[in-house]
Amino acid sequence: MKKLSIIVPCYNEEEVLPLFYAEITRVMDEMKRTYAELTFELLFIDDGSRDKTLTQLRELATKDQRVRYISFSRNFGKEAGMFAGLENATGDFVVVMDADLQHPPSFLPEMYSYVRDGEYDCATTRRVSRKGESKVRSWFARKFYRIMNKISQTEIVDGAQDFRFMSRQMVDAILSMREYNRFSKGIFSWVGFKTKYIEYENVERAAGTTAWSFWSLFRYSLEGIFAFSTAPLAIASVLGLVSCVIAFLMMIWIIVKTLAFGEAVAGFPSIMCAIFLLGGLQLFCIGVLGQYLSKTYLETKQRPIYIVRETEQIYQERKAEHQD
Ligand code: UDP
Ligand code: MG
Repeated sequence: MKKLSIIVPCYNEEEVLPLFYAEITRVMDEMKRTYAELTFELLFIDDGSRDKTLTQLRELATKDQRVRYISFSRNFGKEAGMFAGLENATGDFVVVMDADLQHPPSFLPEMYSYVRDGEYDCATTRRVSRKGESKVRSWFARKFYRIMNKISQTEIVDGAQDFRFMSRQMVDAILSMREYNRFSKGIFSWVGFKTKYIEYENVERAAGTTAWSFWSLFRYSLEGIFAFSTAPLAIASVLGLVSCVIAFLMMIWIIVKTLAFGEAVAGFPSIMCAIFLLGGLQLFCIGVLGQYLSKTYLETKQRPIYIVRETEQIYQERKAEHQD
């Protein structure tokens, strides 16, 4: 027997959750027919939702033996949700997917066929189009992947998603990376292993709205850069060096000019230029340094990545206590 754990991070997903559950159970039954050796575990991570997500999960867990859930004490973000899922999944194979059906469950049988006999350690989808996404957003996304792949040794595949079907070995490798600032796209790629990319067209969200604003995506991409590249630190020193050279040349120029033509009356503009240039460069470099320092600061605190408030077990125990 082989167990497949399906991890689903949910944040305010009351609208799509019933749709997702209907679809995933359909796919699980279908897979069970083709692969008799499979058993399933559905592990939902409620990331501090403010709507009825948790209530729905409680109901699902009571009526369906395969359903488990972990509910966080507050919103910790999708990265923390995925980590909690991986940490608590008990399956021989683990798949991480969104609740909004943008990661179609119908891909699961195909993914399993690649990972089943150990040919690949991971199967994932790669969207070939960004249909249904705003132009500005896709432009920035493309630029991000361009820059990221130039300055980091870790390859980040454009269009690759957090829809991952993984072997236990790969999951354990990911769990061994306990960093607090998590950037999954980088982590998946950093651990290596053989990955099969399945290409498909982007699907729009089944219901509800996305929790990612443009700015949160922007911050997330910076997170990726600072977590998987130290190139910005090098940029800082290169810029500093270049400005020093320019300043040195200017100094010689000014000395020569003064010796040849005597003291100029108005030296004010050039001084202001120099001050602004150097001041700006210094602030910029300190800022870059600060980014890394703040990440290091957060890592050294060794805070937990997430905090659990309720699981289906805790809920059952509480209910039992009340009945006594
Ligand atoms: N999600 C989460 N915590 C958050 C934000 C999102 O667990 O703080 C979940 C969300 O419920 C969904 C998945 O992450 O299952 C992807 O979110 P969304 O669809 O909003 O992102 P997008 O598809 O636009 O990247
Ligand atoms: Mg989505």
